[in-house]
Amino acid sequence: MRERGWVCVGVVVCVGVGTLSVGAVWHLCRVELNRVVVVGASLAGLRAAETLRSEGFGGEVIVVGAEQHRPYDRPPLSKKLLAGDWEPDRIQLRQPDSFDELDVEWRFGIAAAGLDADEQILHLTDGTDLAFDGCIIATGASCRRLADQSRFAHVHEVRTLDDSMRLRAEIAGGDQHVVVIGAGFIGLEVAATAKQLGNRVTVLEGASAPLIRGLGAEMGAAIGIAHEANGVDIRCDVHVDRLDDHGAMLQGGELIEADVVVVGIGVVPATAWLDDSGLEVRDGVVCDETLNARRLDGSVRPGVYAAGDVLRWPNQLFDEEMRVEHWTNAAEQGAAAAKNLLASASGGAPEPYASVPFFWSDQFDLRIQFVGRSGPDDEAVVVAGSVDDGKFLTLYRNGDRFRGALGVRAPRWVMPMRQLLAEQASWEEALAKAATFET
Ligand code: FAD
Ligand code: NAP
Repeated sequence: MRERGWVCVGVVVCVGVGTLSVGAVWHLCRVELNRVVVVGASLAGLRAAETLRSEGFGGEVIVVGAEQHRPYDRPPLSKKLLAGDWEPDRIQLRQPDSFDELDVEWRFGIAAAGLDADEQILHLTDGTDLAFDGCIIATGASCRRLADQSRFAHVHEVRTLDDSMRLRAEIAGGDQHVVVIGAGFIGLEVAATAKQLGNRVTVLEGASAPLIRGLGAEMGAAIGIAHEANGVDIRCDVHVDRLDDHGAMLQGGELIEADVVVVGIGVVPATAWLDDSGLEVRDGVVCDETLNARRLDGSVRPGVYAAGDVLRWPNQLFDEEMRVEHWTNAAEQGAAAAKNLLASASGGAPEPYASVPFFWSDQFDLRIQFVGRSGPDDEAVVVAGSVDDGKFLTLYRNGDRFRGALGVRAPRWVMPMRQLLAEQASWEEALAKAATFET
């Protein structure tokens, strides 16, 4: 089945003279889908390609991926793979047989260098061009770096399989002083793994507590205390001025000596290749609520969708434009972008992607799970279990609005909250549900 149909590409509001008449003029253009290119061969890209096929698309699907590897899972890169418990073959997202069954052309080790969205041409780093009818952008994110970071052999980042294997070789034997810069997800997961391998670990964080952006200051501090109980030294409110042959130099002149330094100071969406594309890029590819990419003038570009860490879209469930950097979002959006591309081409109605963000993180014996959003002004209230016992559920509110839930060692308490958030339940309804949990 090849898809063809008509889509709306713009709405013009007309104001008449004398009477105020507001009318919509629908500009129609035909989208015939013969070839879809997916840019980025990781979680979101794979899910997009799989969904194109499972939804019956019979045209050409080409996936372009900058890495040499077939799609693999990133969460183990800071946990089981880094610890040496798993080997690379265990983290493949699909086994070789199922790749062949998909009937997709994979181009590994080639990056997209540019996109002409209006001419529907993708420029590749090998000098060739690919014409397309549909395009799904899934290029994820890359690590933010400190100045001169790449000059130092003992300084690492963790985004790719190759990064993780390089760091693993350094810390596998224990007895190293590992200094981690940034107490976000990468920082704390790597710190836990490195400590469990027998290394001395120091974490340096610029903010007043770990994980502030994800969990808020109070809950972030609680996770930090669990790390300290496991022997990790966490120093907050310290600012790294520069890297050094011997470690990290703090503002004020203190040198933190290190055998190995890991930089985990956040990511930036991988959008440099879209600079002259005509698409709107603002800390991510800006899309409408159906994940359809917007042009610089705000209109949607038919046939071009985005998914995963690279995407910024208005999530109607939270009345907020957001970019989410977690696994479940990338998987769900890859599928949603593919379905909406096919729907738009067949004259159907693309569906808004309105979802409750979810992530998990494993640190020492803590399973941390979070649903929803937490913002700097939200209040966090422990409603079941207790922080001291190490098993608890915390709900987040902003005024009367229920915004999110954090569970530590409490999966049965967290997951019902995802459903309540999807239903836009009130704070009182969330409290009432939590009151039914047996502690
Ligand atoms: P990515 O996985 O970043 O993939 C994008 C792909 O596009 C990459 O392969 C990249 O090389 C490629 N690419 C980039 N530019 C180009 C280009 N110009 N041309 C072609 N290809 C290009 N989330 C959780 O919820 N729980 C966890 O426990 C967890 N652990 C994590 C641990 C680590 C170490 C990391 C790095 C992430 C973790 N995450 C976790 C987050 C989760 O893995 C990401 O949200 C997810 O991988 C995003 O998928 P993606 O496909 O959007 O982007
Ligand atoms: P992150 O979660 O954004 O955390 C980065 C941390 O580093 C923040 O606390 C940040 O503070 C701090 N920081 C920034 N600059 C600093 C500096 N110069 N010195 C000291 N601290 C500094 O990003 P990350 O931990 O690097 O993770 C990278 C990506 O992988 C993210 O997309 C993340 O979601 C993903 N990931 C997810 C998981 C998971 O879901 N379990 C696990 C691993 C990785 P400010 O916020 O104040 O800048």
